[in-house]
Amino acid sequence: MLQPDIRLTIALVDYSSNKPPAKKINVNGPKGAEAERLVSAGRVDDDAAFELKLRPTRLQEFIGQTKAKEQLAIALEAAKSRGEALDHVLLFGPPGLGKTTLATIIANELGVGFQQTSGPALQIQGDLTAILTNVREKQVLFLDEIHRLQPVLEEKLYTALEDYKLDIMIGQGPAARTHVMDIKPFTFVAATTRPGLLSSPLRSRFGILLRLEFYTDDELRFVVERSAEVLGVPIDQDGAAEIAMRSRGTPRIANRLLRRVRDYAQVRAAGKIDRPTAQAALEMLEVDAHGFDELDRRLLRTIIEKYDGGPVGLNTLAAALAEEQDALEEVYEPFLIQIGFLDRTPRGRVATRLAYEHLGIEMPRKLSLF
Ligand code: ADP
Repeated sequence: MLQPDIRLTIALVDYSSNKPPAKKINVNGPKGAEAERLVSAGRVDDDAAFELKLRPTRLQEFIGQTKAKEQLAIALEAAKSRGEALDHVLLFGPPGLGKTTLATIIANELGVGFQQTSGPALQIQGDLTAILTNVREKQVLFLDEIHRLQPVLEEKLYTALEDYKLDIMIGQGPAARTHVMDIKPFTFVAATTRPGLLSSPLRSRFGILLRLEFYTDDELRFVVERSAEVLGVPIDQDGAAEIAMRSRGTPRIANRLLRRVRDYAQVRAAGKIDRPTAQAALEMLEVDAHGFDELDRRLLRTIIEKYDGGPVGLNTLAAALAEEQDALEEVYEPFLIQIGFLDRTPRGRVATRLAYEHLGIEMPRKLSLF
């Protein structure tokens, strides 16, 4: 009965200790050139409505990620048979690979409620307290971009995750006292593109760690075919393969390219997507055979032409490209590294032989010896 009053006090106390706003970066909501970018793995404005429609809702519909899926399926089955809340889950990997999707699937598979927030959205203790005191039994609480959670909130999470207890301060000044409040057992699912930034105490609170990898072209072809079916777009296997190949191993990009190719097909090819139509559309959109656009080419060209192929430090490179360091590190680079066009060395970024070949630039002899 007392709970509502206590909560009101907590909120007042916590809100009065206003903390500086967390730094918001453009991983899930890119700005500037990144926001305009067709092949950005980050979420851009008009993605949201489409993604909701295209998002698989059950584990069976979730394409690829065999290892993570198997690990999760076993944990889900075990939790269901014990009738307990699922262990806390940490999902990590580059943007657009399905972390949010998996979090919603976990809730669906368990048949429990789902609530979503993100590290940057939680600015003060009161925000987190309010969410935790309101969690329902066994529900999934999803926290995106957990690496951007403020340290003071991170510490508050520890006891909540471990013992389902929350330390709260009631009152202010000398009259303030601590009250330990029980919260309902729940499943915490957190996502991050930068697992290395998490403290080890926080990491140790997760029982299930799932790493998401870039998708193969074949897996992405299935993603494209599935999305085309949901959207009612006629597409043949070759058309889907062409889109998949240029999607940088990322379902979010595959879905975005599909939408753009669909527009082109409607105007130029009676609505049907085959390989020539997909090729023509993607050429028009300046997305090349590797899924590179002007920004990728500019990045590689800058390293090669301005810095003799590297190594060049991340901050220097960011300044030369007029881009944010975090965007370079979290959105652009992972795929370039994955396909072997870029190397991340202790002394900085280095363009590889493949990058020289792709841009048609001859590699200096001293470099080609290595
Ligand atoms: P993240 O949270 O990792 O940035 P999301 O879960 O938001 O990525 O995924 C972006 C979009 O990609 C989703 O809307 C979904 O349609 C699609 N998607 C992601 N993973 C898969 C998958 N394995 N199978 C089918 N579609 C997927």
